[in-house]
Amino acid sequence: MMSSIKRMTKALVRGQGATRHTSASRRAVASLFALMMFVVLPAQTRAVKTLDIYVVDVEGGNATLFVSPSGESVLIDSGNAGAGAVRDAERIMAAVRDARLTQIDNLITTHWHGDHYGGMAELSARIPIRNFIDHGPNVQPAAATDEFLQKTYPQLYGKGKHAVARPGDRISVAGMNVLVVTSAGETIKAALPGAGGANPYCASFKPGDNNAEDPMSVGTYVTFGTFRAIHLGDLTKNKEFELMCPTNRIGTVDLLLGLHHGQDTSNSEVLVHALRPRVAIMNDGTRKGGQPEVMKTLHSSPGLENLWQMHFSQLSGQEYTVPGLFIANVIDEPLVAMPVAPISAPPPGPNGPPAPVHNGTAYWIKVSAQADGSFSVTNARNGFTKRYGASAR
Ligand SMILES: [Zn+2]
Ligand SMILES: [Zn+2]
Repeated sequence: MMSSIKRMTKALVRGQGATRHTSASRRAVASLFALMMFVVLPAQTRAVKTLDIYVVDVEGGNATLFVSPSGESVLIDSGNAGAGAVRDAERIMAAVRDARLTQIDNLITTHWHGDHYGGMAELSARIPIRNFIDHGPNVQPAAATDEFLQKTYPQLYGKGKHAVARPGDRISVAGMNVLVVTSAGETIKAALPGAGGANPYCASFKPGDNNAEDPMSVGTYVTFGTFRAIHLGDLTKNKEFELMCPTNRIGTVDLLLGLHHGQDTSNSEVLVHALRPRVAIMNDGTRKGGQPEVMKTLHSSPGLENLWQMHFSQLSGQEYTVPGLFIANVIDEPLVAMPVAPISAPPPGPNGPPAPVHNGTAYWIKVSAQADGSFSVTNARNGFTKRYGASAR
């Protein structure tokens, strides 16, 4: 039934291209097509053959939605807590609606920081979430998080299933492969197929500082045909080293996602340069991430064709930022120009000056990947799309 519908549709589309139709017959073809889509296709069946990835603007938090051609989905993180929770849940829902999802099949919460799980309850009130996946208990003192984990979280996953991820676990998603490569401070022990070579960047590695929760991040490696992407949550430098040294257990990727908002507690050359991403998409905020050290690592990363950023970051300035064409979001108060010099990040805590706010219209960056490894990236703010051919790998 389905395949005969697809053949009919193809024939109609071909027919449209091959001959000149009157506008009436074109209208008839269009309405027949719309009727078939409406009547025959169940909600989760998609007409597209691409893996689509929406990097949603959650203001220096994380929410990255993967939608397989099968219609099954994985959301990595759910945005900010507190005043940002409704805003971020609505922004995720905009991507969910664009992808025509009626449920989120898998929600991976990388770790227990408010910018990663904070929108979960609001999101769960808007769309069913089936599988809740995390690294296990919170390891950082935080009363609000402990309360969430004791009271709210069990109610949310009580409507679905709950699983604690371990490195090497596969998350079942029809049409794409999803592999956990880090969780709860552990990494995969064996190299992925085709990977495992010596990593030349290990020799110059410098350990970094970190809090307790970031290194616990669930890291996810996604493949679709020959297309490869990785999202390591907020995994910090020392764990990057454990994952990538002395041998590179991941190999190379087409797309590097997340980058811990572009902060300099992550993004060592051991990781970034060795992965050799062709494209990186940084989930930075208006004054979070994109510091000079990280930008230098990215701008000098071998084989990197483009860095895309969720935000203009004051920590980059014109000196280090990418062209605005590759940046999805501005701030509510329009700026005439971005200052040339980056500013330094104020010390963390409630006493610093507030970052520029962006509560208005937000735009995602959307990746559409083909099974042959080619993909396109679109900036929803300005409509700019760039296509990347299949890699020669
Ligand atoms: Zn924003
Ligand atoms: Zn974070």
